Amino acid sequence: MSLKEQIPKDYRSGFVALIGRPNVGKSTLVNQLVGEKVAITSPVAQTTRIRLRAIVTTSKAQLIMVDTPGIHKPHHLLGERLVKSARSTIGEVDVVLLLLDGSQLPGKGDNYIINLLKQQKLPVVVVLNKWDLVGNEQSQKREKLYRDFLRQSSWPVFRCSALKGDGCLDLPKVLTEYLPLGPQLYPPELRSDQPEKILLAELIREQVLLHTREEVPHSVAVSIDRVEEIPSKKKKPNSKNHTALLATILVERKSQKGILIGKAGSMLKTIGKEARFQIQALIDGPVYLELFVKVVPDWRSKPARLAELGYEEN
Ligand code: GDP
Ligand code: MG
Repeated sequence: MSLKEQIPKDYRSGFVALIGRPNVGKSTLVNQLVGEKVAITSPVAQTTRIRLRAIVTTSKAQLIMVDTPGIHKPHHLLGERLVKSARSTIGEVDVVLLLLDGSQLPGKGDNYIINLLKQQKLPVVVVLNKWDLVGNEQSQKREKLYRDFLRQSSWPVFRCSALKGDGCLDLPKVLTEYLPLGPQLYPPELRSDQPEKILLAELIREQVLLHTREEVPHSVAVSIDRVEEIPSKKKKPNSKNHTALLATILVERKSQKGILIGKAGSMLKTIGKEARFQIQALIDGPVYLELFVKVVPDWRSKPARLAELGYEEN
């Protein structure tokens, strides 16, 4: 019997938007729920640029999670597109998962998002994330504070740690209640709708962000120039093919290129090595990775360049 035939009549499927200020842990939560790394995360705000759909399939429902770039005040063309994309996502989903940083007190940024959501009249489930950072003695008081903060709404509130996994596993079940009846929209083994090339580029960009911090972050993009599978030379029947990757890291200034390459190429080597580990885990096989760094002044303000890198207007 195929999987399709086993699907019960009361099966549900639909879209969940993950909404929250930059850095609250949206991408971390997506990875936790999906069970593998499909979204990149980092301590640098505005890490997420592409609109990623992560797919969570359970025996009762299929949830398509839309990880949106954080809602914030736009600064330049790229920022504007990110915000537009987050705002249009809210209009297309069945339920919103509003993620707040429970380890901090609620603030103006949260208010902005909450008001935006109230205008939409969509069901909202609130998750207070980073609860691992809230001390036991603080826990009750902090939760009450957030409940008071949200009191004009009837939204249910949950606590979790996306990083550690505590409290996250109930969320698919909670969210399922808000989805319409419907069949699986994607094959159950699929975890993400992004073409592999974009995921690969994102894994490399993640390592750039993790290793360079303040100096480079927002002006970096990665393009995957070539992906090639090289058949394994080993005679063993199940030895895996190698994947050879050629990628270019784009930066805006010459000084940033210098930082990325590092002393005698040491920085690029580190980024390449760590990215390779991540990619090997994603594609489950050995990887060769060759990285180049290229200066493209002001790429963020050039529409053609943005489209080429996958940040499409929508
Ligand atoms: P996003 O911008 O909302 O997608 O946030 P990310 O998922 O990229 O996370 C931002 C940072 O917060 C990263 O350094 C994460 O490791 C960290 N983070 C996310 N969730 C948790 C959590 O539950 N606990 C702690 N301590 N850190 C977290
Ligand atoms: Mg993110």
